[in-house]
Amino acid sequence: MSQFYMVIDVAKCHDCNNCFMACKDEFVGNDWPGYTAAQPRHGQRWMNIQRRERGQYNRNDVAFLAMPCQHCENAPCEKAGNGAVNRRADGIVMIDAEKARGNETLAQSCPYGAIFYNEEIQCAQKCTGCAHLLDSAEWTPRQPRCSHTCPTGAMQFLNIEPAEMAKKIQDEGLQAYRAELGTKPRVLYKNLQKFTKHFIAAGVLVKGDCFENATVTLKGAGVEATQKTNCFGDFKFDGLGDGVYTLEVDAAGKKASCEVTLQGDAKNLGYIQL
Ligand code: SF4
Ligand code: SF4
Ligand code: SF4
Repeated sequence: MSQFYMVIDVAKCHDCNNCFMACKDEFVGNDWPGYTAAQPRHGQRWMNIQRRERGQYNRNDVAFLAMPCQHCENAPCEKAGNGAVNRRADGIVMIDAEKARGNETLAQSCPYGAIFYNEEIQCAQKCTGCAHLLDSAEWTPRQPRCSHTCPTGAMQFLNIEPAEMAKKIQDEGLQAYRAELGTKPRVLYKNLQKFTKHFIAAGVLVKGDCFENATVTLKGAGVEATQKTNCFGDFKFDGLGDGVYTLEVDAAGKKASCEVTLQGDAKNLGYIQL
């Protein structure tokens, strides 16, 4: 049977919040019997867009991670729910409002912070994958409100066989956010390194001028890569983890090298003057 998946491209997300607002529009003030009670106007972010700034001026960037419930195959909430959380045949993870009533600790079971406790109705709530829409023949877009409204194409809903998804993951290098948790999310990300990894960037100057086509080599922490500086003399190695790196620059025979340590952030080295 075809299954629920989402692919979200971090490089295409501009934090417009259309997906967040579409989710609010669909669920605030609207009960969907058999699926979920209404979402409160404030305090719950079923589509939670996180922000990460990397580097230092003037070589810095920002990435946004749009994060709904990950609809995990190995969901910690399912285990904590005592029968109140179940996975549909299409893979969407649902909270049964009646069975979950009064279970405040359910919200703490999600390592992604995707479950919220509604004090007013005494029940845990979260993204439903817009299952009520996917089940309705009248909703012709045949996809969740959030992906339907995304103006940049950053968010893509897929209803495909697991084998086809496995191939897509392989071919497109899709990644789970915090894969180390072993939760096996159904929401996969493209360009996740923009949110989770670091970069080393700098400019190369020779006698005070930007030097194009210098060879820059980076080694360390399992990485070995070479780049040429661009017309501004700049280079940028992205997708790096924490660790100690050696950087070597060769600008038409003029050479420099240095050690760079990354710990929790990207680094702008400024200018390397030769
Ligand atoms: S609608 Fe698309 S571009 Fe806008 S915040 Fe959501 S995922 Fe990002
Ligand atoms: S993201 Fe959290 S709430 Fe959603 S299925 Fe996984 S553990 Fe459960
Ligand atoms: S799939 Fe539906 S419920 Fe989930 S975040 Fe998107 S709009 Fe909200």
